[in-house]
Amino acid sequence: MKLIAHSPVRPFHYPQENPVLHCGKVSLETLARRHGTPLYVYSADQILERFRLFQQAFAGRDHLICYAVKANSALAILKLLASHGAGFDIVSGGELERVLVAAPQAAGRVVFSGVGKTAAEIDRALEAGILEFNVESETELELLADRARKLKHVARFALRVNPDVFAETHPYISTGLREHKFGIDIRQALRLYQGAAGNRWLQPHGVSVHIGSQIRSADPFGAAMERVNKLVRQLNSSGIVLKAVDAGGGLGIDYRGGSFDPAAKVREYAAAVQAALEGFEGRLLLEPGRFIVAQAGALVTRVLHVKRNGNKTFVVTDAAMNDLIRPALYQAHHEIVPVTPRPGRAHTVDVVGPVCESGDFFARDRKLAPVQPGDLVALLDAGAYGMAQSSNYNTRMRPPEILVEGSRARLIRRRETIADLLAPEMLAEGR
Ligand SMILES: *Cc1c(COP(=O)(O)O)cnc(C)c1O
Repeated sequence: MKLIAHSPVRPFHYPQENPVLHCGKVSLETLARRHGTPLYVYSADQILERFRLFQQAFAGRDHLICYAVKANSALAILKLLASHGAGFDIVSGGELERVLVAAPQAAGRVVFSGVGKTAAEIDRALEAGILEFNVESETELELLADRARKLKHVARFALRVNPDVFAETHPYISTGLREHKFGIDIRQALRLYQGAAGNRWLQPHGVSVHIGSQIRSADPFGAAMERVNKLVRQLNSSGIVLKAVDAGGGLGIDYRGGSFDPAAKVREYAAAVQAALEGFEGRLLLEPGRFIVAQAGALVTRVLHVKRNGNKTFVVTDAAMNDLIRPALYQAHHEIVPVTPRPGRAHTVDVVGPVCESGDFFARDRKLAPVQPGDLVALLDAGAYGMAQSSNYNTRMRPPEILVEGSRARLIRRRETIADLLAPEMLAEGR
């Protein structure tokens, strides 16, 4: 088997002069020795490279790339992207606080999505002066108007419309069909904009869509934007001129590392979105998350045991589903490669973590290069929805995170301690 399971689309590689897996110029062996395992490692260079692909593909028009914070909300990554002009798509008050800490200057470049914003979250966002609320229901629009009036801050809003477009992806992350909880039926939108137009605390600013995540084809994005453009034209004829169209996020990557040209993919996506928006002169907002950070990250873990049960071989690692839940939750595929390859044949194994349930696996019946207890392996493409979806299940401390910039590796989050985990708990009242 070829040991080089990485491809040029990833920042992880085996330099010829030192065939140990590196992130850019930094050896993962060295990082694991210094910081322990499990350990998340990200390439800042690749994050910026991916971000620039979007900037370049949309350079011909007024646009703002609002990175979807939920994909990876590390403060250092938010700061990095903000310093290169990124805006942010947030889905909670907590994510707003992250943006305000990491990049307070970017508050005016924030769009706030989500089906269940609370009054407190809305108030905080109004006071921070965010760019736009992406409103997902009629009652949310009423709540927004009410809070805006109380705080005497005009609320710029977009209706997040549900275009009823099918996008081929995992059912949990498909969001653009009428049967999903997201958005407002596009057929109701005109009426709601007209109703809001008379309210001095509501400013119809844009219209938004987000049809799902890990969508590999550009076609559904184009189909959704065509429906949005039709609505924009209807609004124009009724005297409501929107400043912005928000195309959402959702562009997918190739987790199997096949032939995949990220630059071509973004250009194809941009072409589909822009063609469908013909005639719209305003600003285009985009909310990519996964595409920017997924392939920049790896989860590095140490093999604890290699055991046989019946005719199956299990490779037990010190990382588990609490660190990276995607395989358990979405049956997601992550490539797994040895950090220091050994000679020998690949074996068919299950790669599993120590958590007490059978759902705790990273790979099943996978051909894996030979490994022994004590070896390091890397789970690739773990930069998006990895650490962001991690938990403390089984009272496991979450791993540290390292951001690599050129030859410099920076600890951007330390490993959690047992004191961190127990701090909010009380044994007896008031103690
Ligand atoms: C999750 C989400 C995104 C980002 O999706 P990706 O697949 O990571 O690009 C963008 N916008 C909204 C509203 C989301 O919920």
